Amino acid sequence: MAAVNVGASVQSAEFGFLTDESVRKLSVVRIINNNLVDITGRPVCGGLYDPSLGPYHDETCKTCGRGSHHCPGHYGHIDLLMPVYNPLLFKFLHNLLQRICFTCHRLRIEGSRVEMGVKKLELISRGDIAGARRLDESLSSEVAPNLGDEVMSSHECGSSSGHPLEQQQQWTPLQFTEAMKVLRTLLRPPLVERCGNCGAACPRITSPSFGLFCMDGMSSADISANVSPEYSEQRNMFSRNLLPSEVKNHIELFWEKEVQFCSYLGDIQQRGFGNKKAGSSMFFLQVVLVPPIKFRPPTRGGESVRDHPQTVSLNKVLQSNIELLAAYLEKEHSKVVDKWWELQQSINVFFDS
Ligand SMILES: [Zn+2]
Ligand SMILES: [Zn+2]
Repeated sequence: MAAVNVGASVQSAEFGFLTDESVRKLSVVRIINNNLVDITGRPVCGGLYDPSLGPYHDETCKTCGRGSHHCPGHYGHIDLLMPVYNPLLFKFLHNLLQRICFTCHRLRIEGSRVEMGVKKLELISRGDIAGARRLDESLSSEVAPNLGDEVMSSHECGSSSGHPLEQQQQWTPLQFTEAMKVLRTLLRPPLVERCGNCGAACPRITSPSFGLFCMDGMSSADISANVSPEYSEQRNMFSRNLLPSEVKNHIELFWEKEVQFCSYLGDIQQRGFGNKKAGSSMFFLQVVLVPPIKFRPPTRGGESVRDHPQTVSLNKVLQSNIELLAAYLEKEHSKVVDKWWELQQSINVFFDS
């Protein structure tokens, strides 16, 4: 994915976190056909060489009407039938899942520790690094509650205390480093198997392969003890693979329950404040941006045409998506899971290309 240039108006650092909506806005055509060219060698409409994406050879562009030298190239998109994990954030998501309670959807550690972390992040975001460091020292004194109250009230009213650093839109390197230290404190081992807030037993989340989560480690007694009528649907959710749609539900609830902490997570992930805040959807992809043909040109040698590796991997994504649809229509759950896994793997390869 690093090889993809998204143009001067979009910074490369933002590319991995384009929302589905912004990908669709950027796109001029939806790609649905895994055939690249027809029998005469001409690009197929709806394929990865669709004429709307720019000239394939020496034709004029269907979108801007220019020839291959002057057309800037245009983006397309692929709608995925099911969400997949964003490979750029998979390891971070794994870390997070290991620390979230699947019953109360808060961090498994005690709420007071999360509150303290949020207070420190608030001070860091205001540029008061020394104040954040002092919080550690003053934790056992009477000073901490007062300072904390002040911080929390400024947070609640939109953090408009007038501190000059609040006007900036980006974390400085020092703020970023300090914020990461706080995050590491909250999200580092050891893992706990019982929630510090609600007392429920928590599943062990493993990742047998990159792009796959497995949930296990709970005894049947634990499951019975945890399951209230409210969470009765969770009874059959243990000791098996987790699909992104299920993980998405848990992460969305976590974003609601730990709203302040997650708000900073989004800020830190985007390295900025305000409008660019990343939501829980950053961990998942449902739409894939297809780069213009000119960024993945085929290589021509005599009679033969060799497709660019990105085109090959995108075509595999299309193929997997089509096969997933077939499995979905057949209503065979195990086949759907198998085909989803192929789709996830093809996305992983595309991001690596
Ligand atoms: Zn064009
Ligand atoms: Zn809990």
